[in-house]
Amino acid sequence: MKGSDHRIRPDVLLLQLGIIRPEQIDLEAIAYHFGALVRYQPLDGCAARIVGTAERAIITVDEDSSEQRQRFSLGHELGHWLWDRGTIAQLCDGSELRASRQHGDTREARANRFAAELLMPKSLFHSAARGMPMTFESVRYLADMFRTSLTATAIRLVELGSYPAMVVFNTRQGWAWYWSGIDVPKYFVPRKFPGDGAAAHRLLKGDPFSLGPMDVDADEWFDHRGAEDHVLVEDSIGSLGKGVLTLLWWNDETMLNE
Ligand SMILES: [Zn+2]
Repeated sequence: MKGSDHRIRPDVLLLQLGIIRPEQIDLEAIAYHFGALVRYQPLDGCAARIVGTAERAIITVDEDSSEQRQRFSLGHELGHWLWDRGTIAQLCDGSELRASRQHGDTREARANRFAAELLMPKSLFHSAARGMPMTFESVRYLADMFRTSLTATAIRLVELGSYPAMVVFNTRQGWAWYWSGIDVPKYFVPRKFPGDGAAAHRLLKGDPFSLGPMDVDADEWFDHRGAEDHVLVEDSIGSLGKGVLTLLWWNDETMLNE
């Protein structure tokens, strides 16, 4: 394979390999098919690493990471192998490989997109998520099915689920990133800090308990005009002790149509 021949989209790749169910997404077999060997060992400072020539690559995945994390890292390195071959000799992807960095057209964003689309293919995910409430109960179910992290799965649910929603990751310094479904207007930018009526506020203050999905006034999360007239469903969970991951669901869509 030379030039750009090896560039292949995840959905095409899965179709070619006859993969039609989530449990068939065997990343090591896929890597092998494309000339990359996968091995697991402790890595210091990398979640995964790739060493490649024109024809062959060795991908090393940190054996101390969770299975979900390892799969995302491996999907990411496969993205580099199939899209950046020839421009990379050796890459170490830091432990801060973030599912959130799927926006933009940098090489890293593209590798993250590739991982998300390979692990949670649009057609499979879309039908699995159809009609599901935009809550962490759904996210856990889907994460179990696709063997992916809660964060990566929540983002995919917002992208491909049946209802308008947003994922927001907050730390004590305010939100670090958010991800909106396509039916959520671009000017819906969350407040830097959720209001004190938001479950995320309590979790950030150290309340260890997730309350489950709850109705919350929209102005706890948004401060544009008219937000106070609407209600959202908020589901927030503590995430790795680093912050709070929130799903906001427009169960009542009138706010989106104004
Ligand atoms: Zn990378």
